[in-house]
Amino acid sequence: CGIVGYVGGTNKAVEVLMGGLRRLEYRGYDSAGIAVIDEAGVLNSVKRAGKLAMLSTELQNHPVNPGRTGIGHTRWATHGGPTDENAHPHLADNGKLALIHNGIIENFGPLKAELLAEGYAFESETDTEVAAVLLGREYQRVGDLGEAFRSVVARLDGAFTLLAVHQDQPGVVVGARRNSPLVIGLGDGENFLGSDVAAFIEYTRRAVAIGQDQIVTITPESVTVTDFFGTPVEVEEFDVAWDA
Ligand code: GLU
Repeated sequence: CGIVGYVGGTNKAVEVLMGGLRRLEYRGYDSAGIAVIDEAGVLNSVKRAGKLAMLSTELQNHPVNPGRTGIGHTRWATHGGPTDENAHPHLADNGKLALIHNGIIENFGPLKAELLAEGYAFESETDTEVAAVLLGREYQRVGDLGEAFRSVVARLDGAFTLLAVHQDQPGVVVGARRNSPLVIGLGDGENFLGSDVAAFIEYTRRAVAIGQDQIVTITPESVTVTDFFGTPVEVEEFDVAWDA
C-alpha cells in the first residue's frame, strides 16, 4: 500500500523509512515492515501486523543495526490475512534479498507452482513472496539486481510497484512499476523512492515520476531509469509544491 526506499551516505535509513511510512499512513494499512543493510553488509528485516506503533515498539525493544540502505512498506492485504508472516518485506536468496510490493500479481498461482516444483519454500500466503523468490532465483543466476528485475517483471501479470535490496549490492535500491505508482526523490548524496511524494517530502522537494513499465536503480549518487528491456529512458524533474 505504502512504499519507501532510501540510499544515502549516513546511517539514517531506519529514521527515513519510519518517517516515510508515518507520512504514508493516511492511505490505510494493516501491517508494516522495513529491511535495512547494516554497516557490516548484513540485511536485517522487521515486520509486524497492526499499526506502525507495533513496528516502532518492536524496533525499540530489538533495534535493527543502523544502515544507509533500506526499504519500508505498509501493507493492505489482498492475498493472505494480515499476519506478521504475510507482512512485507519478503526475503529470498537465503535472507540476503528483501522485496516489498504494492498491488496484485495476478498470475502468482502458476508461478508459485513452478517454484515449489523446483524445491523453493514459502513462508507466507502472499502473491508478493512469489516475486521475491523469483527475484532471488534470478539474482543467483545473473548477480545483478537490475538485470534480475528485468527477467522477473517479464513474468508478472497484474499491478505492481516493487522495490528490492540485496546485501551483496549495498548502496543500491531497485524498483519497478506497472499500473501502480512510484516516484523518485532526488537528494544531495542520497536518493529516495516512494509510492507518493509524501514518503520523502521531509527531505527533498525535487522529484521524478517513473513511467509505466519502467525500472529504476538508485544509489547515493545516481538515478538510472530504463524500460523493462533495459533501454535507458529520459526522465523529467519536477518540484513538489510546498503544500503537498
Ligand atoms: N498483494 C500484496 C499482499 O497482499 C500487496 C498488498 C498491498 O498493496 O499492500 O501482500
